[in-house]
Amino acid sequence: MVTIIQILPRIKLPRFSNVILLQFYILNNDYFPYSPSTCLQSLTFHIKRLVSQVNRERLWYSHLRPILTERQPGSRGSQAVRKHIFSKLDSLSAGWSVEVDSFISETPHGPVSFSNVLAVLDPMAPRRLLLACHYDSKFIPSDPSDPQKVFVGASDSAVPCAMMLELVTALDPHLKKHKQLVSRVTLQLVFFDGGEAFEQWSQTDSLYGSRHLADSMSRIPHPPGSEQSTLLNDLLVLLDLIGAPDPMFVNHFENTARWFDRLVAAEKRLHNLGLLSSHPKEQTYFMKDINMGPVEDDHIPFLQRGVPVLHIIATPFPSFLHTLDDTADKVHSHTVENLTKVLVVFLAEYLRL
Ligand SMILES: [Zn+2]
Repeated sequence: MVTIIQILPRIKLPRFSNVILLQFYILNNDYFPYSPSTCLQSLTFHIKRLVSQVNRERLWYSHLRPILTERQPGSRGSQAVRKHIFSKLDSLSAGWSVEVDSFISETPHGPVSFSNVLAVLDPMAPRRLLLACHYDSKFIPSDPSDPQKVFVGASDSAVPCAMMLELVTALDPHLKKHKQLVSRVTLQLVFFDGGEAFEQWSQTDSLYGSRHLADSMSRIPHPPGSEQSTLLNDLLVLLDLIGAPDPMFVNHFENTARWFDRLVAAEKRLHNLGLLSSHPKEQTYFMKDINMGPVEDDHIPFLQRGVPVLHIIATPFPSFLHTLDDTADKVHSHTVENLTKVLVVFLAEYLRL
């Protein structure tokens, strides 16, 4: 650390490493040429600039709206949502490598074709931060008295998918630079198919896409030329059931508590900078000391392989979970925007953007 500090230029704070610089100052202030207040000002300016790129209108109309359709595995709606994700990622300047991980699995409805969507910023980077959600919607029969009303799973999980698209859109120029720097850790987006059960949730009827992907990623030698895989050595951040007002997120795993602390800190920091709206207290969403018990979700196949997991799922679950009322009008757009900003700070810290 000291060596790195000594070679830093003395006239200009490097933008991409403000958080790290502040930490270095605290640890090594005998060596560091800048005052804490200078660092804090620079960090604040950087955070403001990053979160100012989050666009609530774009998130809502450009990213979320096209996902609010029935999208069960193998359906036309599923295909349309995949196309939407492709086109959004394709429009970015960072240059995402996008692929579809397709397979057929037996289900209570017979054999079904599933397609995970994977997008990697730098496929050659040895380590990957995985940011994931499921894009399929559950089979819920429509109301016979109102057949036009179908299950669109706004919070489950159209909103998390839209948040992921907004995150990489807001951070596009920073991710582009990050890729050019050839960092050791890169970002991979995962849009799981088949997260939902077709009938009754069980070990065989659920998590189709995540079971398939965790298995294949653990087998692919990476980086190329090595005998083992480092693809699953980092962290899986899984978003689910997001969109209802006043959500609470709790910490689920001791081994990733320090990453949960970052979410708590980011929420507080953004609140105190006045950058969150409809946000009454500095700690409104992320509550570390409340235990809600484990939740089965797409992280399970990764957890079983020892992957550190940060599970960002609203608990208690929204009251309209798995009902036809999980619709856009139940989504609180300011909450979604605020949470997207918290995740912007999280990604910026993790990837050192
Ligand atoms: Zn669900």
